[in-house]
Amino acid sequence: MKIIRYENEAGQIEFGAINASGKTFKLDGHIAQSPKVTTTPSYVKKLLAPIQPTAVLCIGLNYRQHAAETGAKVPEFPVLFCKGLNTVQNPNDPIQLPVHLKSNEVDYECELAVVIGKTCKNVSKKDALKYVLGYTCGNDISARDWQKNFGGGQWCRGKFFDTFAPLGPCLVTADEIPNPNTLSIKTILNGQVMQDSNTSDMIFDVPTLIEFLSGSTTLLAGTVILTGTPQGVGMARNPQVWLKPGDSVTVEIEKIGKLTNPVEAEK
Ligand code: MG
Repeated sequence: MKIIRYENEAGQIEFGAINASGKTFKLDGHIAQSPKVTTTPSYVKKLLAPIQPTAVLCIGLNYRQHAAETGAKVPEFPVLFCKGLNTVQNPNDPIQLPVHLKSNEVDYECELAVVIGKTCKNVSKKDALKYVLGYTCGNDISARDWQKNFGGGQWCRGKFFDTFAPLGPCLVTADEIPNPNTLSIKTILNGQVMQDSNTSDMIFDVPTLIEFLSGSTTLLAGTVILTGTPQGVGMARNPQVWLKPGDSVTVEIEKIGKLTNPVEAEK
């Protein structure tokens, strides 16, 4: 099932299921508990991020060709960092370039976002996908100057600004994507393809990440895992490419869809 979260004409937040002909009908019940599709058409005034996460866990350096382009060694264990809940942004809403705490080096990163559906701990790789509610597109927006030079050697400052985690446009339930490590994944900036890879290039696949992240650690239902980005980031290009006001950036993942956000300066 393809599920969207949206604001209706009365300003209430609802969930809807998109059918094969692209029409959306209201869902009855919680999205984690096999909701029923009603016959009431959805009135989508505004599309929202498909989930309000309980946590946003991110994996760095998880694609072989991206590790190579940044000159980093292939890590022995997954590299974990976090984004705040403040970073979540809706489809079509702007990515805001930090002005007050200035960044001159804001970059895109297309990522497969895994949504955990059931609270879990110490999950084995074999059982890991049973805990996945579904998948969506994510963009791990990164202020490289704060990430690399002014962040005290860790990445959170550069990854934690408001609007730095667009999610969407829909959540595709796990039954429709039995193997999440076979999907083409792209970033398109102003119509130009900047990243073009496949989730099969991940160093640690999705089951391995869930086993690792749940080790001695409770993963709450609603946790979003951003699983890393492939090669082609703006930082590693020659010349380097940074997001600027007026840009439009799209993350596209096979079987999920396109997540597009304009770019503007923080007001
Ligand atoms: Mg990333």
